[in-house]
Amino acid sequence: KAAAIPDKVNKYANAAPPLPRQNSKTTPPSPPRVITDKNRLVEFNRIGFLGEGGFARVYEVKDARGSRYACKVVTKTSLKTKKAKTKLYAEIKIHRSLSHPNIVRFADCFEDEDNVYMTLELCSSGSLMDMLRRRRRFTEPEARFFIVQLIGACNYMHTHQVIHRDLKLGNLFLDASMNIKVGDFGLAALIENEGERKKTICGTPNYIAPEVLFDQANGHSFEVDTWSIGVILYTLIIGRPPFQTKEVKDIYTRIRDNEYEFPSEKYISGEAKSIITRILTPDPSQRPTLLEIIASPFIEQGIIPGFIPMSALDTAPDFR
Ligand code: ADP
Repeated sequence: KAAAIPDKVNKYANAAPPLPRQNSKTTPPSPPRVITDKNRLVEFNRIGFLGEGGFARVYEVKDARGSRYACKVVTKTSLKTKKAKTKLYAEIKIHRSLSHPNIVRFADCFEDEDNVYMTLELCSSGSLMDMLRRRRRFTEPEARFFIVQLIGACNYMHTHQVIHRDLKLGNLFLDASMNIKVGDFGLAALIENEGERKKTICGTPNYIAPEVLFDQANGHSFEVDTWSIGVILYTLIIGRPPFQTKEVKDIYTRIRDNEYEFPSEKYISGEAKSIITRILTPDPSQRPTLLEIIASPFIEQGIIPGFIPMSALDTAPDFR
């Protein structure tokens, strides 16, 4: 029987994305050219703008030694509510506790009068979302390379009781050597008691697991990240997310009904189809574990390149 889409979900679905900031009234003043960490007596020169997300702007900065970082800047005016503060502290607490080659390294955080600053490992090749836009889709060897690194990071997070909850192409950054760096821990959750289930509806529509939306009674746990990995793998190979439609509400209906297909005009191997289908299982307890995905014929029997060349940002490499 089809579960009704809960009101809360609809409300969430219809929430308009924040409008791009256009005038000086809504654009917060730029952070200073020289950002100072007074406690550690360190100065960073702001040398470029990298991007902006829900509540932060991210700049490229350089310290006195010439080391470059990404600096995430959150204005204190956006931290007026207790909820906003709690959210940012949770993100910092979780992110700074993690250390893995495929997770954006959290260097430091400090504040001045106007802003809170987080210095992060710089990912100079953008995100997988940017790369997909240019490439339209990836070859299966590339998809294997990225998925293996993503699963390594995810397995590390899960063994440290962290669920990311917002794994998507836009949060998978690339360093100068084209390695994956998982970033943005803004929606991450810490599982403090074994068997604990989370109840908050959160995530990004295309990538949300069905139990987050439709099993409020039971809640959700680590398997939501596995689901997102399935959506990511499909998107890398096919070029668009499996449940994509114009209306967010319809995306949720499709997720509820497990309604997606492999378009016949696009090449995808039987092994890839099979593992994606297994991952996109509605019942979270029936989904493969991260180790089972690594042991699947798709990963086990295919070519995994040792590295991805920079030229892959624009053109498909040939790994045969
Ligand atoms: P938010 O949490 O507000 O969504 P994000 O962490 O997603 O912010 O960052 C917003 C944008 O800043 C990203 O889309 C990306 O363009 C850029 N960015 C974030 N972190 C880095 C990084 N470590 N290296 C390079 N660019 C980054």
